Amino acid sequence: MSLLPQPPATRTLGTSGIEISSIAWGMWRLAEDGRTVAEAARLVHAALDAGITFLDTADIYGFDGTHGFGDAEAMLGEVLAAEPALRGRMVLATKGGIRPPLPYDQSEAYLAEAIDASLRRLKIDSVDLWQVHRPDILSHPQEVARALDDAVAAGKIRTIGVSNFTIHQTAALQQFLGNKLVTTQPEISPLRITCFENGELDQAMMLGLVPMAWSPLGGGRLAHPEAPRDKAVAEALGKVATEQGVSLTVAAYAWLMAHPAGIVPIIGSQQPERIAEGAKARDVRWSREDWYAVLVAARGERLP
Ligand code: NAP
Repeated sequence: MSLLPQPPATRTLGTSGIEISSIAWGMWRLAEDGRTVAEAARLVHAALDAGITFLDTADIYGFDGTHGFGDAEAMLGEVLAAEPALRGRMVLATKGGIRPPLPYDQSEAYLAEAIDASLRRLKIDSVDLWQVHRPDILSHPQEVARALDDAVAAGKIRTIGVSNFTIHQTAALQQFLGNKLVTTQPEISPLRITCFENGELDQAMMLGLVPMAWSPLGGGRLAHPEAPRDKAVAEALGKVATEQGVSLTVAAYAWLMAHPAGIVPIIGSQQPERIAEGAKARDVRWSREDWYAVLVAARGERLP
């Protein structure tokens, strides 16, 4: 039985020369549960020590519907201020463009303001990747492109990405950008497989975008499957996990990483052991048969 290739340990962001780990850690849930800065620092260390050097945050992380906008960035900013050497060990990605209660704003003036505010909270001069969090239907892509190209020219952001964009929205933004987009960040998991067939990953391969998978465990559902479909997917993943001596969640990350677009799963756990464990995903090897068995379980019907 032939095996799909092992994913590389690192990938690069477009032609920027910025090298990222092939698995990332995300801080959506960092500023929850009354976590202290010291606890946040432990998580950052857990990721970096495991070789997970690509870290993803957003200005809205920490927002609970009323308060907390900027809290996750501010917490990481405190971690970096206490231990400045950490900055050089990570490739840091953030996002903006969601502006509660509007909900979206990608006007040129707001984007410039949002990028400056993120840098202030993070206590850094420049971020490695800045992503448009969700598309603002009311902003012309030319205006968005101008704001982002200006931020690159000013040295505030090194590279640009998108998240939750349709194929056409990505193409339209790229059309007006002087810089090349380097990432796209859709929701992808064994429970959310739309981008395998809707062209998003094909576009990523065509444009050379690194696809970053948000909620790679379906927000944790895969770890505790309840619905019949979730259980069927977990069972198909579990077979390979058992055979290769890893947890089901590690098998899930590996399943995403086996795709030829070079999907980078963003680990969402805020537990040091689980973050570190995720780094094992590169060692899980998939056969075509086992990979498609997970897809079929997720589709709920056989392939044509
Ligand atoms: P996820 O990996 O799908 O879910 C993580 C959740 O599952 C955590 O609450 C975690 O709890 C829980 N979990 C339960 N059992 C687990 C196990 N055995 N191993 C690992 N986790 C387990 O990811 P996510 O947090 O929803 O999203 C990951 C990242 O994607 C975010 O941090 C963010 O960077 C990004 N994201 C982006 C967008 C966007 O619109 N661009 C949206 C959502 C998320 P514990 O912490 O207790 O382990």
